[in-house]
Amino acid sequence: MPDSPLIGQCDCGATAGPLGVCADYYHAILAEEQADPEMYRWHAPVVCAYLLQHPSRGHEKYLDSQFRYLQFYVDKGLDALLRVAAHQVARNNHRARSGYDMTPVATYAPLPLGRTPRYFRATFCELPCSDGSFVSDGHLAYGRRIETIAEATLEAWRSLQA
Ligand SMILES: [Zn+2]
Repeated sequence: MPDSPLIGQCDCGATAGPLGVCADYYHAILAEEQADPEMYRWHAPVVCAYLLQHPSRGHEKYLDSQFRYLQFYVDKGLDALLRVAAHQVARNNHRARSGYDMTPVATYAPLPLGRTPRYFRATFCELPCSDGSFVSDGHLAYGRRIETIAEATLEAWRSLQA
């Protein structure tokens, strides 16, 4: 059965880590950040990078916005992203939910269509998790690892255009 996924391999191409495939890491991160406001600051980059590394788990109509927001994050930094996100929440409270506000990210490149990357140089199932925590060596170290995953995600998608 050549088409069946390899045991211990994630659909992004990564080899599973001690917790399992990326989905296992992703859900563990979402659970831990719920109880840790400082860790939760990286929530948006985590969601965007995870869905762009596993596009079959996302919604096709949001992947383009998520790709642009990830570019915004790598370009402008976390504080700028959080300011935009706060504005976004206020906006969604005033109107019916209509997905992402594209105004802040309109100048960034759209998601390449047609193909999806098969390799990322940094993935979720490589994240160190010690004693059940992703931030045991500090939030800044965790943030740097999320930024590396974000950069790797953009690189892989951009390489499809080359
Ligand atoms: Zn994966």
